[in-house]
Amino acid sequence: MQPLTSRAKAVDRKPMTMWEKMYLPAIAKGMSITFGHMFKKKPTVNYPEKQRPFSPVFRGLHVLNRDEQGRERCTACGLCAVACPAEAITMEAAERLPGEENLYREEKYAAKYEINMLRCIFCGLCEEACPKDAIYLSETFAPSNYTRKGFIYGKDELLIPDPVTQPEEYAKAKGQRH
Ligand code: SF4
Ligand code: SF4
Repeated sequence: MQPLTSRAKAVDRKPMTMWEKMYLPAIAKGMSITFGHMFKKKPTVNYPEKQRPFSPVFRGLHVLNRDEQGRERCTACGLCAVACPAEAITMEAAERLPGEENLYREEKYAAKYEINMLRCIFCGLCEEACPKDAIYLSETFAPSNYTRKGFIYGKDELLIPDPVTQPEEYAKAKGQRH
């Protein structure tokens, strides 16, 4: 029959030789390849026990930052939301009340702050746009979730732990880069 392409190969159907019928040489050849791999450096990583280091420029999950006294830095100016090309950030501003100076650094703060991680492309433009050093992208990533709603991160997930009352958690969340 005429082949459809020029890549067709005729199958070699000549009978096996005595040497080939023994199979032992082929088994020995296969085993030598297997043993050869046992002494090579493994390209795989035993995740999650061992984690591959991220690139120094890796941009991960967002963190809403606090100042050294534990006050929220965000002043709900909206610049990050305007800069976001994915329209992933929404917020609601509120006025700071007398007596809340220890909670919020500025007179205005974000009563609600949400990032839709399904929209986010982790470009880092929100971090660059922020004049208050209030948001940055950390060295961790958004964990998987079963529902779409679970990817809408609110202040409870984004806000960094208080450096005064939870210094260890704060240092861990802050990471090495910031
Ligand atoms: S990293 Fe980029 S896409 Fe994600 S919230 Fe910030 S500006 Fe928007
Ligand atoms: S995170 Fe920064 S840019 Fe965004 S609203 Fe808060 S202060 Fe403004």
